[in-house]
Amino acid sequence: MVMNDFGKLLIIFVFFGWYFNPAFAQQESLSEKRAYVFTDVNVIPMDREEVLENYNVVVENGRITAVSPSSKTNIPEDAEKIDGRDKFLMPGLAEMHGHIPGEEDPQYAEDVLFLYIANGVTTVRNMLGTNYQLKLRERVNKEELPGPTIFAASPWLSNDAIPSTEAADKMVREYKTAGFDLLKIGGLNPETYKQMALTAHKIEMPFGGHIPEAVGLEGALEARQTSIDHYDRYVEFLVSEDKKKGRNNGFFGSGIIDLIDRDRISEAIEMTIEAGTWNVPTLSLVEHLAIDEAAEEMIKRPEMKYMPQRILKNWEKAKNDFKNREDFQPDATTALVEFRRELTKRLHEAGAGIVLGSDAPQFFNVPGFSIHHELEMMTNSDLTPYEVLVTGTRNAAEYFGTPEEFGTVQNGRRADLILLNSNPLEDISNVQDRSGVMVRGIWFPEEKIREKLQEIEERN
Ligand SMILES: [Zn+2]
Repeated sequence: MVMNDFGKLLIIFVFFGWYFNPAFAQQESLSEKRAYVFTDVNVIPMDREEVLENYNVVVENGRITAVSPSSKTNIPEDAEKIDGRDKFLMPGLAEMHGHIPGEEDPQYAEDVLFLYIANGVTTVRNMLGTNYQLKLRERVNKEELPGPTIFAASPWLSNDAIPSTEAADKMVREYKTAGFDLLKIGGLNPETYKQMALTAHKIEMPFGGHIPEAVGLEGALEARQTSIDHYDRYVEFLVSEDKKKGRNNGFFGSGIIDLIDRDRISEAIEMTIEAGTWNVPTLSLVEHLAIDEAAEEMIKRPEMKYMPQRILKNWEKAKNDFKNREDFQPDATTALVEFRRELTKRLHEAGAGIVLGSDAPQFFNVPGFSIHHELEMMTNSDLTPYEVLVTGTRNAAEYFGTPEEFGTVQNGRRADLILLNSNPLEDISNVQDRSGVMVRGIWFPEEKIREKLQEIEERN
């Protein structure tokens, strides 16, 4: 009797314990198979501009363990074969200015993580966050949740949060201890900014995002800000105070773009290289607002069906509000877009560090999908498809100081891979012609991706 009851209890406990723990159920499905081989595939290694034809790429326990000609590969016995004939295998992409939504809508946050994966984005630098994103990062790392590898920025550093230099010092240390990977810079005064930078360098905490107006481009580069996002304050640097005459800076300089001194662009670029500061252009952030297409049309684009209605409504309203802004009229926006393309071209030619980032989900940037718009936009700055792909693969790994970790198809790298039906080096839009995505060794064939996308679409 006693044994029987105990047995029943055990069954009930085990069954419900498993059943009501979706994390456990997920874990089972995510990692059941840990060895794969992509056979006879064309490898785009991204450590050099070359296609390695008829190669096998072996993946074991989340890592690439062999990249070799098909005839010479030792294939592990239990490896699942993925037919790579006539296909192209490239490293997964990094969205270096992404956002993962917060705890107010966990379903939306989880959907966003999947939208990144579905588009071949295997790394996301989350540009603003709380402890919630740290928890998501942990769940993704434990394979309880499908998602890209997350680097998490702190909450916004502003004068409200940091009223004194003492507070700046304390906050930087606290965010590091809490487990954030980066400090997100908003509006700080020059003194607190300086202290923030001093402590950040001391404890090796990167800081990036915006540049406070009072700090300016020179101040941020002097402080060796890790990254400048959206080309913040470049326009302001190129317009002298006496020319400005009280005019509003506008949106990333849209209000004063007609006043820039082009002769100083090279100076700005030299200073950037000297500081070792990375740029995350987020061209699509500005271009989506600047282009002629009506907001009402843009929210009908195919990828918009994966976004909650309330977000689409916000975007529509934002674009229409911008249209009425004095500092965002067509002459200014055309000049601003051209300037940003030119800056991308010249930073690239000079050898400055650029990483790929679109700022999703902001203004019509649907997570994952927007990275493909960003890739296309970067080719408008005369970068070849290969050069554009470098910014989203190898450069991202270099940015994090871990070039051995990911960003290329090489032995030992994390198995973050995109399998494509056509060659992305011939046309950058071929990065969307997917056959599947692998993230940290977890394989998502295209059919599985479609199914899950369908689910997300139905939810919205
Ligand atoms: Zn952002």
